[in-house]
Amino acid sequence: MKHAAVTIDGPAGSGKSTIARQVADRLGFVYLDTGALYRAAALAVDEAGADSTDGDACAEVVRRAGIGLEHGRVSMGGRDVTEAIRSHRISSLSSQIAVHPQVRDALLDLQRSFREKSPLVAEGRDTGSVVFPDADVKIYIDASAQERARRRHRELVSKGVDISYEKVLNDLKERDQRDATRSVAPLVVPQHAVVVDTTHLRIGEVISKVLKVVQDKLAD
Ligand code: C5P
Repeated sequence: MKHAAVTIDGPAGSGKSTIARQVADRLGFVYLDTGALYRAAALAVDEAGADSTDGDACAEVVRRAGIGLEHGRVSMGGRDVTEAIRSHRISSLSSQIAVHPQVRDALLDLQRSFREKSPLVAEGRDTGSVVFPDADVKIYIDASAQERARRRHRELVSKGVDISYEKVLNDLKERDQRDATRSVAPLVVPQHAVVVDTTHLRIGEVISKVLKVVQDKLAD
């Protein structure tokens, strides 16, 4: 059965994870963090020592990795990798392997299977354009690269990571470039998506705004 789907796409650091999680909570929908699946895939590739430029090899590792996502915890072959996938290294590697159509294909059924079990709020880069093109509501969250880097830098520093703002900004721009220019499922504003720019908004304001759009559209 196909349940209701809300998609929230946007670039790294736009605030979409916080927004998607809260909106899902308020609606009583499941929250699907598709980026976490790409991160788990990257961790699998890293641990297997596979060549990240070889799409077939990466996809083979990903298919065998036994990636799971339940109650906000990410697992790989039964091992909890929720924290391990959040490193700066894995952020970068995830966008490198996400350019391969074979890897994207290997993760597609898993992403779609969540909607068979429950209504969901999915968050990522292509959830409105490729994974759930018939979603009931599509949102695109944006913010300036400087503001996104500032938020990401603050988050990393609060976790004790020693990294400069300039490095975070450069890496984020590089990741944006890769995500937006890859030939398969690039980051785009999906058709009929409502665009929300969060550069000058507080997170609470964004959540209220997005929630109103979603509730109005679902009520239609
Ligand atoms: O959202 P997050 O930063 O955790 O995603 C990590 C990487 O996974 C992104 O930079 C992107 O390359 C990839 N990704 C993707 N498609 C998605 C979600 C994430 O290509 N739907």
